[in-house]
Amino acid sequence: MRVLRHSIELRLLPLLLAVGTALVIFSLSAAIATRHWVVLPQLRELEAQADRKDLRRVQLAIDSKKLQLATLVYQTAIDDRTYDFLKTPDLHVFESNSPYETLSNFHVDIIALFDRNNKLVARRFAQESESLFDSNALPLPDLKPLLIDLSKVKEHAPLFDTGLALTVNGVVVYAVASVMRSDMTGSAGGNLLLATGFDREMLREIEDSAQLPVHFSKPDAADLSAAPQFADKLYRDEKNKLSWLLRDNKQHPVLKLTISLPRRDYDTNLLALPVLVSFASSLIGFGLILLVFRHVLINPMLLVGKHLRKVRRDGDYTLRLNIDTHDEIGDLSRDIDALVQHVQIQQDQLHAQTAEMQALSFQDGLTGLANRRRFDQSLADNWALAHRAHAPLALIMFDVDYFKNYNDHYGHQLGDEALKRLAAIVRQVVVRQSDVAARYGGEEFAILLPETTESGAEQIALRLQEEIHKAAIPHQQSHIGRFLSISIGVAALVPSNKNSQRELVHSADASLYSSKASGRNCITLASRLVDY
Ligand code: GH3
Ligand code: MG
Ligand code: MG
Repeated sequence: MRVLRHSIELRLLPLLLAVGTALVIFSLSAAIATRHWVVLPQLRELEAQADRKDLRRVQLAIDSKKLQLATLVYQTAIDDRTYDFLKTPDLHVFESNSPYETLSNFHVDIIALFDRNNKLVARRFAQESESLFDSNALPLPDLKPLLIDLSKVKEHAPLFDTGLALTVNGVVVYAVASVMRSDMTGSAGGNLLLATGFDREMLREIEDSAQLPVHFSKPDAADLSAAPQFADKLYRDEKNKLSWLLRDNKQHPVLKLTISLPRRDYDTNLLALPVLVSFASSLIGFGLILLVFRHVLINPMLLVGKHLRKVRRDGDYTLRLNIDTHDEIGDLSRDIDALVQHVQIQQDQLHAQTAEMQALSFQDGLTGLANRRRFDQSLADNWALAHRAHAPLALIMFDVDYFKNYNDHYGHQLGDEALKRLAAIVRQVVVRQSDVAARYGGEEFAILLPETTESGAEQIALRLQEEIHKAAIPHQQSHIGRFLSISIGVAALVPSNKNSQRELVHSADASLYSSKASGRNCITLASRLVDY
């Protein structure tokens, strides 16, 4: 993070942190919501399925008890001895008969035999003290409705029934069958009913086979009015108890069965892990996004910013980013490079134009020689240089003779042409790079010669005059010949604190005036003028 803080613009950092926090919160909420609405319900459903299996085991234990009784009652009812006993009841036979001994061995609490008119013929109770029927009194009003309607029994088709029933003594599991001959011929002789009380012993049996703590209670008023429930809609309550109503064959609740189930502990332990993983992964994800963001966006942006600042600071428009990636940053950098190149071209053009204009501003339009402004500046510069170097600085000034007449005779345009030819001759004679030939004004010219003595300048003046004579430009109206001529003044000085530029110009001008005065078409040296 410390490295990141250095490189990521601080203005962007709070935004990134906000996005990251939002990401983490979102991911955590998603994990918690998934846990609450998806995982937990599924776990609860799985748990409920396991709970229902436990319930089914209990139900199976009860059913097996019913089946046991049903088997026993069926075997004993379809028996000639039982049938005969009903015809001629002999209590002694009933007490000692071996089938009834067997019944008592199976923990059957009551054995009761009824004749065709549902009148109790014989009964027998188990001897255990725990029995619901200790009182030795049968709850006949409760039992009689359980008996099989013998009018419905056909030959070879004995009927039997089994179920739970509520009696004044308590809830019993019972089985009842029509008594018939062993070969099932003839009509039914009566009913044989076996019942076992829902006592502690039965509870133990059920608990043993279901392997669960089971509790039975009387259904309360709410249970009695409740509609029958489906087993696959059963869920344990907050106290981890699952209740189920056991009903008699007419669907009346007779007993409430409650199973105590092991407490669930996945709420905290199991589900904390996914939330933790989601938190950690969203943090790592954010870190990765930050790294990618930095690599893909921030660093290139910083690079582009640095580049643009450098271009602006140094004014170097030849610098290029040259990022050639095929993505948005690549496109942006190419656009920036193109823009900077465009600016570079414009700048080059501007420089060229400025240089051209500068050159023009120092040039005489007609002759192409330096103009008066350039001459003045060159004089000042060269004066300073010569002053420092204690070197001589020479100046030639010349003026066209009778040029007014020339103009008057040949016209102003030919006058201009003549001036151009004179300038060409000057350029021909004055070849040194440091020399400055200028049009001083009208038809008057000046030539500044650094590091040149008066005699050196005189040589130039002589050559100039010679070349003009050679050119032989006709001048019909000159008072001193048939060709164009010039009068020249030459002066030279070694600049010092005792003289000045003005003195040099004045001296050259005076020499020129002297040449005019002495008949024109000649050269006057300032030294000679002083002597004169
Ligand atoms: P001198 O110098 O010999 O005494 O006689 P001048 O006739 O040359 O003297 P002046 O100075 O009186 O005349 C200068 C003439 O030069 C006047 C003007 O018509 C002419 N002139 C000055 N500048 C130009 C120019 O640019 N083109 C043309 N064609 N003529 C010019
Ligand atoms: Mg003049
Ligand atoms: Mg003149």
